[in-house]
This record gives sequence, C-alpha cells and structure tokens, in this order.
Amino acid sequence: MKDQYEVIVAGGGTAGIIAALQAARAGASTLVVEKQGILGGTMVTAGISYPSSFHAYGKQIIAGIGWELCLQTKRETGEDLPEINPQSPRSGLSVNPAVFAALADEKLLEAGAEILFHAMPAGVCREDNFWKLTLATKTGLQEVKGKILVDCTGDANLVSLAGFPVRINPELQAATLVVQVSGYEAEKLDYQAIQAAFEKEVASGRMRWEDPGWSRGKFEFFLRHYGGNRIHLPGINARTSEGKSIAEIEGRKAMLRILRFCRKQPGLESFRIDWCAPECGIRETATIVGKKFITLADYETGRVWEDAVCYSCYAVDIHRSDHTVFRNFPPGVYPTIPLGAMLPAGSTRLIVAGRCISGDWEASSSYRVEASCMAIGQAAGAAAALAAQAGKEIEEVPIEKIRELLRKHGAIVPGDI
Ligand SMILES: Cc1cc2nc3c(=O)[nH]c(=O)nc-3n(C[C@H](O)[C@H](O)[C@H](O)COP(=O)(O)OP(=O)(O)OC[C@H]3O[C@@H](n4cnc5c(N)ncnc54)[C@H](O)[C@@H]3O)c2cc1C
Repeated sequence: MKDQYEVIVAGGGTAGIIAALQAARAGASTLVVEKQGILGGTMVTAGISYPSSFHAYGKQIIAGIGWELCLQTKRETGEDLPEINPQSPRSGLSVNPAVFAALADEKLLEAGAEILFHAMPAGVCREDNFWKLTLATKTGLQEVKGKILVDCTGDANLVSLAGFPVRINPELQAATLVVQVSGYEAEKLDYQAIQAAFEKEVASGRMRWEDPGWSRGKFEFFLRHYGGNRIHLPGINARTSEGKSIAEIEGRKAMLRILRFCRKQPGLESFRIDWCAPECGIRETATIVGKKFITLADYETGRVWEDAVCYSCYAVDIHRSDHTVFRNFPPGVYPTIPLGAMLPAGSTRLIVAGRCISGDWEASSSYRVEASCMAIGQAAGAAAALAAQAGKEIEEVPIEKIRELLRKHGAIVPGDI
C-alpha cells in the first residue's frame, strides 16, 4: 500500500467494485479497502448473486462496467444470457459469485488499482487537500491519504466517521440469512400437516412466524424453494458491529430452529442444511442526508434530474416482517439518479455509492438493487477520478464531463435512450 492515492473506495461490494474499476480505468491511483477477504459484498458474501435489472420492458437502461463484469462471468462459466422479455418490467440474471469475485480482483489489478482486504476505516480527518484515513488493519492502525473518498460500505460508515449525518427510517426492511437446504422431495410433502405443526411451534414460542420468509407464515414457501433467500429477520439495524453481530446470531438461530423443526416432520427426516451465507444479507440500515433527496414521486415519474448520472430500474420492493410491498413501474418510466443524492450535505471531496444514497423509503427500496448499485458506483468512480485529477471539488466538475467519461466506459447516461 502506498502513502496516498487519488481515490480511496471504502467497501468492495456491488457498488464499490465498479466505482474503483471506473476510477482506476480513468487513470486515477485507486485503493479499495474491504473488511472481508473477498470482493462482491451482498452479491457474494450474502449469497445474492442475482443482479437486477439492466433491462426494463426489454430495453437496456443500465450497461457499462457492471454489465461487462456480469457478461464476462457468464462467458467464463459457459452460461448463456437469459432471454430478455419485452413484456417484463425488469429482468435479472444469475452470476456465479465465486467467479464474479475472482474476476473483480483480476480486473481491478489489471486496471492498476490496489486492494486492501481485512481492513476498515477507523477514523478520517481533513489535512490540506487530502483526507487522512486511519485504517484498522490486522497489525494495528495504519494511515493513508486520499484526495477523494468514495463510501461504498452500504451503510454510510465512512460518511459518519467524517462527521456527516445519516437518516434512519423508523422501520427498517428485514434482513435475510440465505441458506440452501436439501434431503427431501418438495413435491411429496404434506404441506397442511407441516403448516399445522409449524403454527403450534409458533404458538409455543419455539419458532417465529417470519422464519420461513415473507409468505405471511407459509412454511411451504421455504420448503418449495429449498431455502434460498427466505428467512426474514425484522427489526435489526446492522449498521454497527453490534447490530451486525445481532443479525448474524439471529440468522443462525433461525436456521437452527428450522433444522430442528424440519427433521421432526414426516418426509423431512433427512432434511439437511447444505450451505449458509457467511454474512447475513442486509437490505437497509441508513441513507445519507444528501445534497439532493430522491422521493418516490421523483422516482416513479422518471424525473430526469439536471445532474442525472444513470438510470435505475426495479419495482418498489419493501420487505416488512412477514410480507413484501411490491409494485412495478409502468412501461416508459425510467427513474434517474442525480449526482446530488450521492453527495453528503455539507461535505467536500466525499461521494457515496450503493444502497445508502439519499432517498425516501420507497425509492431506496428500488434503487438498492444490484444493477442500479453498479451504475451508481460507476458514476461515483467517474466523478471521483475527474475531481481528483483536476484537484477540484466533485461539484466543480462539469456534469457533461462526468457523462462523457461514463459513456466512454460503456455506461448508458440519462438522455441516451
Ligand atoms: C436478502 C437480500 C436479497 C436481495 N435480492 C436481490 C436480488 O435478487 N437482486 C438484486 O439486484 N438485488 C437484491 N438485493 C439488493 C442488493 O443485493 C443490495 O442492496 C446491493 O448489493 C447493495 O450494494 P452495496 O454496494 O450498497 O453494498 P454491498 O454489496 O453490501 O457492499 C458493501 C461492501 O462494503 C464492505 N464494508 C461494509 N462496511 C465496511 C467498512 N466499514 N469498511 C470496509 N468495508 C466495509 C462490505 O463487506 C461489502 O463488501 C437483495 C438484498 C438482500 C439483503
């Protein structure tokens, strides 16, 4: 690791990989600081490798570096792209998480970026034209300077360390521990009997209604999908180490409850847990208080902001304790993301990408998805590189220059479609 970089990205997840790749490919010296030992964030460590949505009603609205990485992952694993249905409001594709993460390493190193795993920012302050970042590493505290910081932690952790406020919604979406289960034939089970037994367990306090997911307590939902992205964990704010510890412990407690219950049910005697994600999937913790605020009304009318840097595409999708609120957008609505929603109010030389940019509960429930986070990440990387190289504030970089750089790297910019 060097003493200083033009761009430092905290968090090498869905948005962070793409932000760092864009900054490095634009020629900025770039460091990624990641607390895990693998890149990919929610896509990899939480087991949600199903990026949505590059397309809306058959039209591609997000491309660029995230799309390139997904396509290459598909090519490396010899898989075809799924058919894009022109009638469908959105489309997803699955990517092999291990290959995606390995490719992210490869592409970042090829672009000249450096990656520091097993490290987290512990403090940050301004020093002349730099941010001085103190990192907690395996061997103690280490200092590094950066001209522009990009917070891609998903939780705006760096924004808080720098002293800027965040917004925490009164209700937070449920978290989910992804598990894969087997040892039974879903077609052969007596779901009525299993449901009756489950409801008895819930009444006795031994199980929780939301254990099988967002199906209003239907255990069949969990079993038919062989687990997967199901177990719901409401009421946890996993923004702090304490909060994350509660999420991890509660997730594994729920998994054990399911294991112990299932193995007593007829047809499920050989029920097995084959895999559980190393980290609990977190949908929401906090959003920044940004220079701009994306409301549902802005989002669902497809408002084109004057500083729009990318499109976003997904339904409103709020995971409450045992059900979801889900609403698609009509054809022709292509929500856009303004740069101002990525800039903490009152901050300089600090930009945010990923699920925690500034917006209301409904809008953020939609732009939090992976293709959108990748597009937002690419925009953050472009803005950061241009500002660092020019020695300017991010807002002093003309928006057209940011868009030009994004287009050069394959991104679709609002107005292009
Ligand atoms: C259960 C669940 C199901 C979902 N289903 C889908 C789906 O099917 N399709 C879809 O497109 N989206 C889905 N999403 C949403 C989507 O996966 C996430 O919102 C998105 O990946 C968030 O991207 P991000 O870059 O903001 O955060 P992340 O991808 O989580 O990246 C954050 C990164 O920062 C690192 N980090 C965090 N704090 C620090 C720190 N202090 N210092 C250093 N590193 C740090 C983390 O380890 C991680 O690598 C789902 C989310 C969940 C939880």
